[in-house]
Amino acid sequence: MSIKGSTRVYAIFGHPVSHSLSPRMHNAAFKALHLDCVYVPFDVQPKDFETAARAIRAMGISGVNITIPHKESIIFFLDEISPEASLTGAVNTVKNDDGKLTGYNTDVGGFLRSIKQDLGFHPKGSNVAVIGAGGAARAVLSALCMNEASEIYIINRTFDKGKKLAVEFKKNFKDTQIYAVSLDNKEEVEKSLSSANLLVNATSAGMKGVDSVEVPLEFLSQRAVVYDLVYDPRETNLVKQAKGIGQRASGGLGMLLYQGAESFNIWTGVEAPIEVMRKAIG
Ligand code: NAP
Repeated sequence: MSIKGSTRVYAIFGHPVSHSLSPRMHNAAFKALHLDCVYVPFDVQPKDFETAARAIRAMGISGVNITIPHKESIIFFLDEISPEASLTGAVNTVKNDDGKLTGYNTDVGGFLRSIKQDLGFHPKGSNVAVIGAGGAARAVLSALCMNEASEIYIINRTFDKGKKLAVEFKKNFKDTQIYAVSLDNKEEVEKSLSSANLLVNATSAGMKGVDSVEVPLEFLSQRAVVYDLVYDPRETNLVKQAKGIGQRASGGLGMLLYQGAESFNIWTGVEAPIEVMRKAIG
């Protein structure tokens, strides 16, 4: 890679950020398409976030991915945000057009594309149990509601957080029934799972070094599928257990790939080289 005066700079702001696969994925794509662009990681602590956000314009950074814990804070510094980002309340992609900053949420499209491609699942008319009520769960909910899921059960450890999310999304989507369930309420969890066509883990439980959430998978119907947003390890305990009892299941690498591809398209206006990007993070 040769950096010149004309090279356009793309970045990711997060804390921590050293584990991120995005630099590998985007630099491989730039290289494959011979684009004069580079993608660099910046570990930005919350106390420094304002300075970093203002530097996007000041330093002429062409585009930025925003990750934990800044996806909500960035909104304040933008000129415009997309409908998906507004609904989700979070931005993971910023495009800088000559100083005009627009925010997008490509996690929404990334999740949707991954459940379709990796599990053959289409949300319209379906019942879905989502474990978690954080930023990732919000993106999952946006994708499901915008695509006319019929019923959604938000199962969360902190019940009030799930309840608040259910109330918020119900206001925007009258045709989707949304219920909040406490992860501790065994009976309600079993009921949610038995009516679900799709079970999603949108918690950080199950990441390398973190115990998985205990889920009574035996209550799922045989045709239900399981999606775990966690991708490190590539095959989480939840995915292993689901496959072990004959369910179709996928980890979250596809979502990471497709959200990256959508960011790439937004930034460059060029179709992302999916297979190159997949190989870079595989
Ligand atoms: P977050 O905003 O911090 O939310 C974390 C959620 O996980 C909360 O609902 C929290 O419950 C729950 N949780 C955490 N530890 C738990 C445990 N031990 N048992 C039960 N629930 C637990 O994080 P996030 O941004 O939503 O991210 C969640 C996960 O999704 C992360 O692993 C992230 O890497 C992954 N993710 C993947 C992709 C992808 O492209 N595949 C994209 C985005 C995120 P409480 O409310 O009770 O605290």
